[in-house]
Amino acid sequence: MTLTAIISDIHSNTQALEAVLDDAREQGAERYWCLGDIIGYGAQPIECLAIVREISSQTIRGNHEQAVLDGPTGFNPLASAAITWTAAQIKQGAHLMNDGLEYLQSLEERKDLETATLVHGSPSHPLDEYLFREDTLEYLPQRMEERPKIARCLERVEQPCFVGHTHVPGVIDEESRWTSPLGCEAGYDTKGARCFVNVGSVGQPRDGDRRASYALWDGRVVNFRRVEYDVAAAAELIFAAEGLPDMLGHRLLEAW
Ligand code: ZN
Repeated sequence: MTLTAIISDIHSNTQALEAVLDDAREQGAERYWCLGDIIGYGAQPIECLAIVREISSQTIRGNHEQAVLDGPTGFNPLASAAITWTAAQIKQGAHLMNDGLEYLQSLEERKDLETATLVHGSPSHPLDEYLFREDTLEYLPQRMEERPKIARCLERVEQPCFVGHTHVPGVIDEESRWTSPLGCEAGYDTKGARCFVNVGSVGQPRDGDRRASYALWDGRVVNFRRVEYDVAAAAELIFAAEGLPDMLGHRLLEAW
């Protein structure tokens, strides 16, 4: 089986991305898939787009790519400021990439591959819907009969579905149960069944662990990985970028 490194939510963080790629190579990854939000929040959007375009064989669109194309409607002020700044960077062009907007435009919202489906958020609303631990039976047992979000989303996939968007890694299975990476340290065997595997975020983890998150996939078993990187350097670049709120740098250091 081909070993695939699945990355998501890089958010313009080159330091985190390069650390993840180094780790994936060491682990024997033979190819890379990317679940979107390559850009937004961090200080190096062009660099991250150029790297992902180069290495990723399957890349889908995230809500931040969409927002750079369409404008930041419906985003909170922090995200909105970052999107405006990022769009300006991409439109200015750069030596690394002078067709950034065309590249973003070329990305599809969903891919159904041989062993997995890829979306950024959920199969119901690929760009915008979050699949949270709080949507699972653990939190909503009484609502299973009412066809809540997970049941609705399961109807739209036929195999393991990889997602990002929440920046919190974990698996939601066919019974709407949540498994965190700590609950499957030897690997999570999907057995090819329908489930949602959130690979977490490379460049802006929100689960209190500031190390970059991604997953390895052999076509059946998922292994979650966390990778140390130079968080302070990524934060410094944000502090130095005029137009990016400093809060986005502090956020990387605190992983919220
Ligand atoms: Zn994101």
